[in-house]
Amino acid sequence: MGRRLTLSFDLDGTLTSNHFVDSVWMEGLPELVSRRQGMDLSEARRMCLGAYEQEGPSSIRWYQLSYWLDHFGLNDMEPAGLVSRYAPRVELYDDVLPVLGELQSQGFPLVLFSNAARHFLDVEVSRGGLAPFFDQMISVSDDWGMTKAEARAFLRLKHLAGGDVVHIGDHLEFDYLVPRSVGLQAYHILRDRGPGVEGSLNDLREFAARVKGE
Ligand SMILES: [Mg+2]
Repeated sequence: MGRRLTLSFDLDGTLTSNHFVDSVWMEGLPELVSRRQGMDLSEARRMCLGAYEQEGPSSIRWYQLSYWLDHFGLNDMEPAGLVSRYAPRVELYDDVLPVLGELQSQGFPLVLFSNAARHFLDVEVSRGGLAPFFDQMISVSDDWGMTKAEARAFLRLKHLAGGDVVHIGDHLEFDYLVPRSVGLQAYHILRDRGPGVEGSLNDLREFAARVKGE
């Protein structure tokens, strides 16, 4: 029986912990702002977090480090350099490599489908050794100029897959409600963080069990 079910995975908070990305946004950028503007670190951090919140994760700018460097008057800084400084902090969840390997060997096409900008995604894929598992790795913000807050991102994914797609991710809205709103199957993964919905999964092993039961 031919299998055309494509499996789509969010990255941050789903395959990798948030330790790496949080380091860039909550530590790296505030440190630069603090130094440049001569304010203490806690004040700089408050200012950064306030600015991020005001923009919000539905906005493509949220993901664009070059936008934030400009915004804070740091446009002489190289986004790639700031991101790669924290590369040693990339952490994969324990179930990622075994489950991806298992699903791949069963013939499921696998897609990485993340809002993360290319600089971030590339570092995480490379440090985590994720590239061999995926048929496609898509930075929705950089490659497509949109975010998973938009249903059209999932319609485009479905078109690209040429068949049914099951998506999984940790963001209740972007990885679960939005894809379901346009008829994709989707799972929300908790990774020990709440709140969930009925049917939220704890880890990728539960996800593998579900898709194999399809
Ligand atoms: Mg996520």
